[in-house]
Amino acid sequence: MDCIFCQIAAGELPAERVYEDEDTLAFPDLRPRAPHHLLVIPKRHLDSLAGARDEDWPAVAACLRTVAHVARTRGMDQAGYRVVANVGVDGGQTVNHLHWHVLGGRLMTWPPG
Ligand code: 5GP
Ligand code: ZN
Repeated sequence: MDCIFCQIAAGELPAERVYEDEDTLAFPDLRPRAPHHLLVIPKRHLDSLAGARDEDWPAVAACLRTVAHVARTRGMDQAGYRVVANVGVDGGQTVNHLHWHVLGGRLMTWPPG
């Protein structure tokens, strides 16, 4: 398996496991773009939201639960935070394993680039 996020999920590549449960994992982004920058992934490989099938929505819901959970435990929920899922080429997705960015600790601008 040459997917780096699958390797992180399997413990074959190092990452601080900020939170994990049976279906999801949260870990810091290697190149943080904000004081808080976590990634949340399903442990089971999915390419992106674009390819999600009916059977994948429980994993998506589990990831969003983990997003809210880590935002709370990292103290981002009071001031607010941003959740981003880049999808495909136009979306700027560079790692083809479904993931959400959880960014906080500074004021975000809109629209994104
Ligand atoms: P994307 O551009 O696909 O939305 O986000 C991929 C993210 O994964 C980028 O923000 C990038 O910094 C991060 N990333 C790439 N490789 C690694 C890695 O090996 N470990 C960690 N923790 N993050 C990575
Ligand atoms: Zn993967």
